[in-house]
Amino acid sequence: MSDEEDYFRKLDQEAKARLKSMLDAEQDAAAREARKDLHFHKCGKCGSDMTTQAFRGIEIEVCSNCGAVLLDPGELQQLAGKDTTDVITSFFGMFGGGSSDG
Ligand SMILES: [Zn+2]
Repeated sequence: MSDEEDYFRKLDQEAKARLKSMLDAEQDAAAREARKDLHFHKCGKCGSDMTTQAFRGIEIEVCSNCGAVLLDPGELQQLAGKDTTDVITSFFGMFGGGSSDG
């Protein structure tokens, strides 16, 4: 094989590799979207639809079938902050937040 052939073969392989990684990335994005469509507002335990309910002034998602609860980021802290005697508060204390006895 001549150096020239080798050079063009290498270029071809690189182009194919680039194309493949582009297609892979597109498929990743598409798969992510499909997953989101499939699981959005679905219970992580049983797959049933979640319903939005007001709880202590916060809107939480509750499974219509098994009653599992889904909280948005920060909502657990909000709930814990409203009830300082709750066990959730001591749970968060474990993460270096420290307890303020007073
Ligand atoms: Zn469920």
